[in-house]
Amino acid sequence: MEQSRSYDFVVIGGGYAGLVAANRAAQLGRSVAVLERSEEVLYPCNSRFAGGVLHISYENLNDPPADLAAAALAITGGGADRALVSALAGNALRVVRWLVDEGAKYVRVGDIGWRQFILAPPRPPVTRMEWEGRGADVTLRRLEQNLAERGGELLRGARAMRLRMEDGRCAGVEAERGGQTMAYRAKAVLIADGGFQANAELVRRYISPAPEKLKLRCALTGAGDGLRMAQAIGAAAGGLDAFYGHLLSRDAMHDDALWPYPMLDELAASSIMIDASGRRFADEGHGGIYLANAVARLADPLSTLVVFDDAAWQGPGRATTISPNPVLESAGGTVHRADSIGALAVKIGVPAQALERSVAQYNEKLDTGKLAELDPTRTQGRYHALSLRVPPFYAVPVCVGLTYTMGGITIDAHARVLRPDGSVVPGLYAAGSATGGLDGGAPRGYVGGLIKAMVFGALAAEHVSSATTAT
Ligand SMILES: Cc1cc2nc3c(=O)[nH]c(=O)nc-3n(C[C@H](O)[C@H](O)[C@H](O)COP(=O)(O)OP(=O)(O)OC[C@H]3O[C@@H](n4cnc5c(N)ncnc54)[C@H](O)[C@@H]3O)c2cc1C
Repeated sequence: MEQSRSYDFVVIGGGYAGLVAANRAAQLGRSVAVLERSEEVLYPCNSRFAGGVLHISYENLNDPPADLAAAALAITGGGADRALVSALAGNALRVVRWLVDEGAKYVRVGDIGWRQFILAPPRPPVTRMEWEGRGADVTLRRLEQNLAERGGELLRGARAMRLRMEDGRCAGVEAERGGQTMAYRAKAVLIADGGFQANAELVRRYISPAPEKLKLRCALTGAGDGLRMAQAIGAAAGGLDAFYGHLLSRDAMHDDALWPYPMLDELAASSIMIDASGRRFADEGHGGIYLANAVARLADPLSTLVVFDDAAWQGPGRATTISPNPVLESAGGTVHRADSIGALAVKIGVPAQALERSVAQYNEKLDTGKLAELDPTRTQGRYHALSLRVPPFYAVPVCVGLTYTMGGITIDAHARVLRPDGSVVPGLYAAGSATGGLDGGAPRGYVGGLIKAMVFGALAAEHVSSATTAT
C-alpha cells in the first residue's frame, strides 16, 4: 500500500458538502485533500446537476431561523432531528453569504419566498438534464479553484474504500487510485459521498423491491461507499427507507428528454393516483415526494398512473416552471385522453368499473368534506384536492425519479458521526446526502439538499478546525 503525505483534513467526495468543507477548513489554516472517485474534469455529481435553488423546506432563507426550523419540523411531520434542524436553520444565511465571498452569485424569482437564492446563471426551463455552465456547476468549479489557491488538493480518480481507525479514532482513509491502494493519513475525515441511490443492492434492501424499475434522476455517483465504511466502524445510520424524488412520465425510463423534468407531482397531489387494479393506493395529499416513495415500495413500481380531469390539466398541470402542460407531450411523453372515465379505463387497460368507483368515491367524499374517510385516506393541507368532473379525462403513466437518499449516517449538530449509543466517533464527520436525520419522517418531507450539504460541510470544517491544531 502506498502512503500519501499526511493532512489535517481528508474529505471524501467533491460535491457541495465536500468542497464547502474543504474550502472552509483551508481558509481556517488546515491542510486539506478531497478524494473524488470520478476522473473527469467536470466530474458528475448531484451538486453539479442541481437546479441551484437554496431553501429550507421551500421557505425563504432570509426568514428568522425559528420560522425556518418550524417549517422543517412541520414538513417532516416532526421527524427531523431538532438539533440538526436548529443547526441548519441557524447557519443557513451565514453560509449562503460566505458562498458569495467565495464567488457565488444568486438570482431571485419575484417575491416567491423559496426562490430568493438561486445560483446564477439559473438552468433554462427545459425538460432534459442541462447543467453545464449553470449556477450549480459554475459555483462548484469556483470552489475547486479557490481550494487550489488555498493550497488544498482535489484528487480525481480516488475512490475511498475504508476508514483507518487508530485507538478508536478515525486517522485516515484508504482509497483506490490508479490501480493502487493509497493510504491518506488525516487528523479528521469527512464523508461526503452523496448517498446510496446508485447502489441497486442497498436500494433493494431499504427502498424498493424492484430498483431496476426506478429512474435514477441524478448523477450515478452515490454508491453508498460512505454508509458502508461508516457502518463498518460502528457508526449509526437512520431513515434509510426514505428518498427525495419525484413522479415522472414513465417514458423517462427510456427517454432522456423526459427527465429530470417535467414532474407530475402537482397533478397527482390535486387529483388521484391509481395502480393496475384501477384503485387508489396512497394518500395523494402528502404530495409528490411522498407518492414517489409509495410507488417505489409497490411490487411493480411501473404499474401506476395519475388520473385527472381538464380542470386539473389547465390548473395544477400548468403550475410550475416546467409544467407537464404543455411540455410533457411536446417532449414525447404519453398522455391518454377520453371523454368518460370508463373510456379512459379501456384505453389504459385497467378495470373500468374499478376506476369509475374510485373516481366516484373520491368525488363524493370531496363534495361532502369527508376525504379523510377514503381508504387510503386523503389529507387536505398543502395541496388542494380537485374533483374529477370536467372532460376530457386524462391518465399519465408514471415512473419514480429517485434523486437522492434521505437517510444515512447519523451525525450531531457539528456533523460529527455518532455511534448507536450516541457517542461520537472521534475524528469522523459526515455531511450532505451521506447523512440522515433531516429530510424524511412519515410524510417524506424535503428539507433541502443543497443547503443541507453546504451548512453541514461548513460546520464540519469549523469543528475540525477548533478541535485540532494545524500542521
Ligand atoms: C436534477 C437535480 C436537481 C436538483 N436541484 C436541487 C435544487 O435546486 N436545490 C436543492 O437544494 N437540491 C437540489 N438537488 C439535490 C442536491 O443536488 C443534492 O442534495 C446535493 O448536491 C448533495 O450534495 P453532496 O455533496 O452531499 O453530494 P454529491 O453532490 O452527490 O457529491 C458527492 C461526491 O462524492 C463522490 N464520491 C462518491 N463516492 C465516493 C468515494 N467512495 N470516494 C470518493 N468520492 C466519492 C461523487 O463522485 C460525488 O462527486 C438536485 C439534485 C438533482 C439530481
